[in-house]
Amino acid sequence: MAQLAFIGLGNMGGGMAANLVKAGFEVVAFDLSAAALRGAVKAGCKVADSATQAVAQADYVVSMLPNGTIVESIYIDDDKLLDAMPKTALLIDCSTIAAQNSRRLATEAAARGIRCIDAPVSGGVAAADAGTLAFMCGGTKAAFEAAGPVLNAMGAKLFLAGDSGAGQIAKMCNNMLLAVHMVGTAESLQLGVDNGLDPAVLSEIMLNSSGANWSLENYNPYPGVMENVPASRNYEGGFMNMLMLKDLGLALDAATSSKSAVPMGSLARSMYALHAGKGNERRDFSSIIEQFKKNP
Ligand code: NAD
Repeated sequence: MAQLAFIGLGNMGGGMAANLVKAGFEVVAFDLSAAALRGAVKAGCKVADSATQAVAQADYVVSMLPNGTIVESIYIDDDKLLDAMPKTALLIDCSTIAAQNSRRLATEAAARGIRCIDAPVSGGVAAADAGTLAFMCGGTKAAFEAAGPVLNAMGAKLFLAGDSGAGQIAKMCNNMLLAVHMVGTAESLQLGVDNGLDPAVLSEIMLNSSGANWSLENYNPYPGVMENVPASRNYEGGFMNMLMLKDLGLALDAATSSKSAVPMGSLARSMYALHAGKGNERRDFSSIIEQFKKNP
């Protein structure tokens, strides 16, 4: 049985690790959070006392961490996991981080003879739990193909976007678009409600008209319109505003360096900064609709 170290079992990583167990991997989990580790044990993972211990015998190392500083810290600068894992291990970092963080990780891994791909995901917590994530990967074709059994256990769609860092570029573009259509969906729904429409009726009309989009179809931000979405549980769980703000920051940094015009992305970033700054950092990103309510 292939041994797989999984680092970072939060909202996303918890479900991803559970699906790897179901697919027959021996998963050794590590997270700084005791609650995350309790969930991992329930899902059938073994738990390590440290990240170093988790990767020591690994055939695959998978991580799902909050940001690039943490990824560089655990693999290169502080915990030095690249020096603790077997040279034969394949490193699959699924965190959403800057392309330059992923490129540094791949370069440092290659210097030690370790194969590495960036493999950020799209689909959210529901897709992580269901094993239907989309993976956008960067790295060599050989490393991407070697990661297939692991990625297929967690996802339904696998894409190789290009060399190291390319998965992060694809993810950044996708999430900027997601933010833009979530903000647009929220303001349209609130406009309809302010003018006397039932949000469920308006949602149904727009879903079958030219306004249809992923947010409306899968993640309606108006409370009570859809079951099993964050809007119907006071925006708990899901994709935190602080993570969306991080992704928009990555997109704007990249746009600055490539001198690209991203007016809609800039506006969406400002909306999320405003919303997160009002104490909403940890709530789901569809709660942005509250910024459009007259009496939230
Ligand atoms: P989360 O905060 O729920 O999970 C992150 C986990 O990493 C936490 O359990 C935390 O304790 C752990 N962690 C932090 N530092 C650590 C360290 N040094 N060692 C070990 N564990 C550590 O966040 P999440 O929503 O699961 O997001 C994780 C990544 O997935 C982010 O990069 C995010 O942008 C990306 N992502 C999230 C979603 C979503 O819908 N939540 C969707 C796509 C991508």
